[in-house]
Amino acid sequence: MTNQTRNALAFGLGFAGFGFATLVLRWYVSRPETKPEIASVAVKTVPVDVFDLVIFGGTGDLALRKLLPGLLRRYADGQIPEGSRIFGVARDALSDDGYRARIEESLQKLVADDALLDEKLPAFLAMLHYFSLDATKEDNWDTFAASLKSSDDRIRVFYLSTSPALFVDICNRLSAHGLNAEPARVVIEKPIGKDSASAAEINNAVGAAFAESQIFRIDHYLGKETVQNLLALRFANALFEPLWNARHIDHVQITAAETVGLEKRASYYDTSGALRDMVQNHLLQLLCMVAMEPPATLDANAVRDEKLKVLRSLRPVVGDAVSQLIVRGQYKAGASNGGAVPGYLDELGRSDSRTETFVALKAEVANWRWAGVPFYLRTGKRLPTRVSEIVIAFKQVPHSMFDADAGAIAGNKLVLRLQPDEGVKLWLMIKDPGPGGLRLQHVPLDMSFAEAFGVVQPEAYERLLMDVVRGNQTLFMRRDEVEAAWKWIDPILAAWGASADAPKPYVAGSWGPSAAVALIERDGRTWHEDAT
Ligand code: NAP
Repeated sequence: MTNQTRNALAFGLGFAGFGFATLVLRWYVSRPETKPEIASVAVKTVPVDVFDLVIFGGTGDLALRKLLPGLLRRYADGQIPEGSRIFGVARDALSDDGYRARIEESLQKLVADDALLDEKLPAFLAMLHYFSLDATKEDNWDTFAASLKSSDDRIRVFYLSTSPALFVDICNRLSAHGLNAEPARVVIEKPIGKDSASAAEINNAVGAAFAESQIFRIDHYLGKETVQNLLALRFANALFEPLWNARHIDHVQITAAETVGLEKRASYYDTSGALRDMVQNHLLQLLCMVAMEPPATLDANAVRDEKLKVLRSLRPVVGDAVSQLIVRGQYKAGASNGGAVPGYLDELGRSDSRTETFVALKAEVANWRWAGVPFYLRTGKRLPTRVSEIVIAFKQVPHSMFDADAGAIAGNKLVLRLQPDEGVKLWLMIKDPGPGGLRLQHVPLDMSFAEAFGVVQPEAYERLLMDVVRGNQTLFMRRDEVEAAWKWIDPILAAWGASADAPKPYVAGSWGPSAAVALIERDGRTWHEDAT
């Protein structure tokens, strides 16, 4: 059993008496004398084998903001063994020391408040090396290959943190220089294409150099603690699975909201938009984790087989249904993060873009378990708050024995929050405390992971990078999953392309166009807003 599975199961078992027991659990873990015991379960780390990691795009934004900070944390935690090497690759002419200085500068902010990271930083920097390579040219590849081959048959990970336009060149050269043999692994970042055809091109090129078992298609949402806790909640507790179907679940909501606008991603984002950037990958992957049948094991292919079945069960949205079931929006000037912000077109510096910065949609998983249960998905930029969460809304009780003075009975909700603060809330009806008669209240039983376990949760990239080294593909997308997701998205893109309608405007700082509210309200439901 992997450490990750062990942690998930430990958490799942801790959750076994959910409901009122959660209150007890929360009280219990908050007592100082009980905290260390629980925390020690959550922070246990198992070192991986010695490895070489090559980051193509080692000077880029993703490497500096996510990959290298994550690796430093794993190193400080004792998970990365001495002797491992990390190579940054880009076109800039830098020496090893020049690269280390650049990375040190960007990591300084991270280590400022953390004595352990500060102490471990010099040894971590010594693991870093740099190669100046142009992925599109042959120069220097011989030296690069020789340098990698100087090590024994250790695990080699090639992380393609560059534009996908370079994936074909990089994979061809890795193959030509004999760097693709097992136990080599390759990690590819989104976007994996902009439609089925371009995704197939990328998958063919990567697949020509590496076997599927060596390819790790990363979706960092799957590395979130909460997503793995969804597995623990569903499959390590007897409580939920009997209710996890159309008989008891009214609907599901999945929201991924950002407050930011384009930042520095304008040229990429304008060719992508929210449907490709967020729905095709992150939101559909979350939907799969909610809707899939119980896999027989945690084996990568067992889990991915079940996710694939969900993607293939999605009812196609084509033709007129696109405008009825899918709302696309584009933000106008408004207010965000406490200040005035320009609209999308002004930020972009163009007036003719029809790229959507917001999508809300109603999907259906057309199978025995989920028939008739709507899955409402929404994502957007310049929304009022940064939050990603999954809401499982259960059906109402069939009959109320309480009189009108007791108040209305609201349905139970299980809310799994992925960011900013990972945790789970179960909304229940309870009696208003005190002797003043029997009045009902809808209250959340709250399980904030950081608070309960007293540890900082690892970032998704940390866990996923270590999974790559371990060769565990459970939390990575298989080729057929990516293709099935695009197959569902393609007709929507085609319908938008053929339509004269522009995205609906919404004011920055609002929850999207009013049509997104109407989408769910015409079914007699509302978007979940957590006021507490
Ligand atoms: P970025 O900041 O533009 O960095 C690109 C990197 O690639 C730089 O190190 C660049 O260095 C290098 N590069 C460019 N052309 C090259 C060539 N011909 N040969 C070798 N190296 C080359 O991009 P990023 O934001 O880090 O994103 C990298 C990938 O991850 C993209 O596919 C992006 O969509 C994806 N992604 C990024 C994020 C994020 O938060 N940034 C999140 C999810 C996915 P030189 O110019 O010096 O060569």
